[in-house]
Amino acid sequence: MRLYEYEAKQLFSQFNIPITSGQVAETKEQAKAFAEKTKKPVVLKAQILSGGRGKAGGVKFADTPLEAGTRAEELLTTSIKGFPVNKILMDEKLDIEKELYLGITLDRVNYKIVVLACSEGGVEIEEVARRNPHLIKKISLDVDQRFFPFWGMSLARHLGAKGENLKKLSQIVVSLFNLFKQYDAKLVEINPLFLTKDGRYIAGDARMSLDDDALFRHPELAEMGIEIRHEEGEMTEREKLARGWEIPYLDLDGDIGMFPGGAGFGIMGNDFIHYFGGKPANFMDSGGGPSPERLARMLILLDENPKVKAIFGARFGGISRCDDFAKGVVIFLKEHGLTKPMVLRMTGNMWQEGVRIFQESKKEHPEIFKNIEIHGIETPIEEIAQRAVELAKQR
Ligand code: GDP
Ligand code: MN
Repeated sequence: MRLYEYEAKQLFSQFNIPITSGQVAETKEQAKAFAEKTKKPVVLKAQILSGGRGKAGGVKFADTPLEAGTRAEELLTTSIKGFPVNKILMDEKLDIEKELYLGITLDRVNYKIVVLACSEGGVEIEEVARRNPHLIKKISLDVDQRFFPFWGMSLARHLGAKGENLKKLSQIVVSLFNLFKQYDAKLVEINPLFLTKDGRYIAGDARMSLDDDALFRHPELAEMGIEIRHEEGEMTEREKLARGWEIPYLDLDGDIGMFPGGAGFGIMGNDFIHYFGGKPANFMDSGGGPSPERLARMLILLDENPKVKAIFGARFGGISRCDDFAKGVVIFLKEHGLTKPMVLRMTGNMWQEGVRIFQESKKEHPEIFKNIEIHGIETPIEEIAQRAVELAKQR
């Protein structure tokens, strides 16, 4: 679960990671009032679950309360990177000497925690990693290992800190590590970490993602007003609908609706579609042994998506049975109807029974089968994927 900047900064302050005493504004008047109280130029930042707000116009500055009101109104009435802005985080504008980067995440390749420091902050770290990898210093440690303070020192030194500042900055590294562990985070990032003209370190931005599977360990989040929500970002309307039906579902950029067996088969199908030059419109998991009703709902999600031009269905009956699968598809065809071309393959557990269900139902209602091509073990999966790509291109 990703946190908003203002939420992550709440946690930062608990761990003594320095932030400025900002405030959330939801109206123009609140923004104006904050600027009046601050008596200094302010920065206004759109609170959305996405980075790169600066480039997208989601970070604005104002010298006077009147201007703060205007800027706030602009932000609250537009959407940034496709997300409507309901809240703005306001802070006093700092005089910046340097922008640094500090982050902690999990390295999925070797299952280690990796602490990263970079003397070039305020830009995307992935970009620096490509251009100037030597600027990034990394420390890797096992997930159950303690963090030694001298690592903090070494990273702080890499960031150019000296004397008293060396101590201060290494303390920030240690605090960030403690925060990462305490909240079962997958990622914590301070980008930029400001060094101000008057020599203070202040977290300019705060990004945090928590492990969804560990959220039950953190009832204190709710007490702080941080609600449990979707994994990494705001949900689309279709994702919300799917969640209501308890179907794991994600919208993607392409135009081929993916109606897979389980998640593994779904990932493989995704690769096949890409290999043959197509693009999936979604990722979906049916869960082990889905009921016919659930399968019908999965198809509703695809058929009603205006971006979907063709549907790729591949079912390998294992725990889930092909007869249940066929029943689900038939319920959907009868009750909803299929408006998109669909190519479907079914093999494995109870496939003959599945075929029989399709045949019988087709005898009764041939018209509802007009958009669907059904295959069994005789057709390799590659041909099904190729056919789906072809069908999408024809539309
Ligand atoms: P992001 O683009 O979504 O990562 O938003 P950030 O919160 O990181 O802000 C983007 C950029 O705005 C920073 O890298 C800074 O250059 C600038 N910025 C943000 N706050 C301040 C501030 O208080 N003073 C100054 N001078 N610049 C700021
Ligand atoms: Mn940032």
